[in-house]
Amino acid sequence: MSEEEPLTQADLADQQETPPGVRSLRELIDRVSGRDVRMEPVEGDSSLAEVLPFPFLALVGQKEMKLALILALINPAVGGVLLLGPRGTGKTTAVRGLVELLPEVPRSMCYYGCMPEDIESGGMDAVCPDCARKYAEGQPLARMDRVRLVELPLNAELEDVVGGVDERAAMHERLRIRRGILAQADLNLLYVDEINLLADAIVDVILDAAAQGNYTVRRGPVSATYRSRFGLIGSMNPEEGRLRPQILDRFGLRVLVGGLDDPTERLDAYRRVRAFQSNPHRMVSQYAMETEIAQEEIQAARDLLPEVDISDEVAQQGLEFIRKLEIDSLRAEISLFESARAYAAAEGKTQVEVDDLRQVSQMALRLRRSEFMNDYLANQKTEESEIIALMDAVLTNS
Ligand SMILES: [Zn+2]
Repeated sequence: MSEEEPLTQADLADQQETPPGVRSLRELIDRVSGRDVRMEPVEGDSSLAEVLPFPFLALVGQKEMKLALILALINPAVGGVLLLGPRGTGKTTAVRGLVELLPEVPRSMCYYGCMPEDIESGGMDAVCPDCARKYAEGQPLARMDRVRLVELPLNAELEDVVGGVDERAAMHERLRIRRGILAQADLNLLYVDEINLLADAIVDVILDAAAQGNYTVRRGPVSATYRSRFGLIGSMNPEEGRLRPQILDRFGLRVLVGGLDDPTERLDAYRRVRAFQSNPHRMVSQYAMETEIAQEEIQAARDLLPEVDISDEVAQQGLEFIRKLEIDSLRAEISLFESARAYAAAEGKTQVEVDDLRQVSQMALRLRRSEFMNDYLANQKTEESEIIALMDAVLTNS
């Protein structure tokens, strides 16, 4: 075992300067993104590396990706996040790091995912016999648990995704349907890497389940409906496969994740990866305080969100912006307004201001016009500058 002594609170306080007066999540992201991480010599046993996610806040640069993912945690109504970019740009690392920022949720203790609310809405038949007995005896069916990141395996079949007949249960009693990945993703985050390489039928099922919050499986005489209230995060490399317009339209926020251009940032990224690989625990502890602050900020923003309103005047400017961009999909204003509400909540405000629209408009509105779907890489620069030019012309503080 390691000779390294466990870190005490005092050690942690020495290691981390207290963030002085961090006033917003955005500020925290800006500040931590540029922080210098000291390299530590390899000490002790670092065999736990694979179970510790690289700290989300330790990712160098990629501010828009971080902001989009955090907004999706604050307000699931933004409708998911699609990360578009080449391999090796930190997409998967960022998504895996998110779990540290999530609150706890009540979760079923049963293989079949039975919840007390199933009985409240559907009676005792809505849960398995074990859970019906437990419920009758006043035992809990659920406990508080950390939100998990559910990753869809690349080779997933439709049967794995939606569920199928439970062969074991079928031998003993009546036919029962086994929960699929979508049901396991309920109240979690579902991460679908390389979503453009998945079979169309699977993508459609995932997008429908995410949009509706539940889905029904039928196998012969049996059918079952499962909750599927998950935050959907997809990623894709546009160089490796076509973009289905339907996929793009169904994601609320789209982030173009590029490589780091600045050599200083690249060197910094390399150093942080090395520091993490040589001692993941120390790296995680160096960011523990910021991670905790960010988690609290996100929880506070989630709590404030129901009170955040958008005035007619601000909404009209947003709609005018969308009209001038000639976007047809009604999902454009849903994503724009819901992400602006999340942004306002993160700033501790209960009214969306024009500036909140400005902060989120690129990620909410890019790649929504059909002519950009086919050849978007060539056109992207033009669109980005148009958005910025129109943003300055139309979204004005009155
Ligand atoms: Zn059960």
